[in-house]
Amino acid sequence: MNTELQSFIQKYDLLGCVQCGRCTGGCPVTVRTNLNVRRIVYDSINESMLEDLAKLPEIWDCTTCNTCAVRCPKGLKPVEVLIGLRNIMVESGIIQPTVRDALESVFREGNPWNKPKARRSDWMEGLEVKIAEPGKKVENLIFVCCTIAYDPKVQVIAKNLVKVLNKAGVDYGFIGDDEVCCGSEVYAMGELGEEGLFEMLVEDNTELFNSYEAERIVAISPHCYSVFKNQYPDLKAEVIHYTQLLKELLADNKLELKKELSQKIVFHDPCYLGKQNNIFDEPRYILSQIPGVELVEFDRSRERSLCCEGGGGKMWVESESRKERLAEIRVKDADELGATLLAVACPFCVLTFDDAIKAKGLEEKMRVAEITEILGEAVE
Ligand code: SF4
Ligand code: SF4
Repeated sequence: MNTELQSFIQKYDLLGCVQCGRCTGGCPVTVRTNLNVRRIVYDSINESMLEDLAKLPEIWDCTTCNTCAVRCPKGLKPVEVLIGLRNIMVESGIIQPTVRDALESVFREGNPWNKPKARRSDWMEGLEVKIAEPGKKVENLIFVCCTIAYDPKVQVIAKNLVKVLNKAGVDYGFIGDDEVCCGSEVYAMGELGEEGLFEMLVEDNTELFNSYEAERIVAISPHCYSVFKNQYPDLKAEVIHYTQLLKELLADNKLELKKELSQKIVFHDPCYLGKQNNIFDEPRYILSQIPGVELVEFDRSRERSLCCEGGGGKMWVESESRKERLAEIRVKDADELGATLLAVACPFCVLTFDDAIKAKGLEEKMRVAEITEILGEAVE
């Protein structure tokens, strides 16, 4: 057996797999693609197959939702095997041009959207935003996220958070133009390894964050939150998600919700917040505090939540499947519940569900909104 295969088997504990199939049984994308994660785990121990497996197009169908890891009775992480196979392709240079461009853009501009680094804070224009200063104390150091900073469809998330934090008198500071990609999607697209882009981002961001006297780093996107919390071992400050901060403000009566919002709201658990980090209650608590809101639940909610297919680098991967997208199934489910507002706590969910609502012609009946946006309306 060659050493590359040996270390691959050891790294992912492949011999621990009992081929029970619970991973594939729970994998949401099997309904619309050829991905069979149990099979891939099995085939990955075969000497002649590793490189061929890495070339399978379905490797890129995985959204890194983590359901397979949550369900595996042997504690394996099948999702990491898929990322490891992506890494083999990234290292050999055989990847989709869209993925390559995103990775190169992170290297060059510090974001995967091919936008100039110097324009990262353009969304702040006209707002009263506090910027943190290295070496000075700040209770909450806010990390915006590349997608929220640059995509006009989701900049509203950061703008509303500023409004809410200012109203509540929170001690906070944004990083501004020095902010650089968190690396979550870079990792999921297979750019890992000791001298890889991901490792470089972890080192540079750790040094940057530790240069502030921050008590907490507050991530707006669950993807940034998850990677800081789980893959940045040397951060001095505690890492929290913004829903945890807002829940705290509401519970301590530091935030007053004055406006009634007569909406039937269903909350979609983002994979990187719920399944991956067990934050289920905070978003629901926040929504339940808004006067006039009726909260309903999906049948598949919390740990069983369906994935929106926005994560795992999927924003940059072309899909070959023409079958109904999971986000489309989700908005149909929301419509059946009679929801007028599909609430989310992640920028990728906003983008995928917004598309799905349009694709299903549901614009007249429902809209998707991020919790900051809903709260921004309620604090008016
Ligand atoms: S992470 Fe999610 S999409 Fe990827 S293989 Fe596991 S269950 Fe399937
Ligand atoms: S759930 Fe775990 S043990 Fe079962 S087939 Fe998948 S990887 Fe193997």
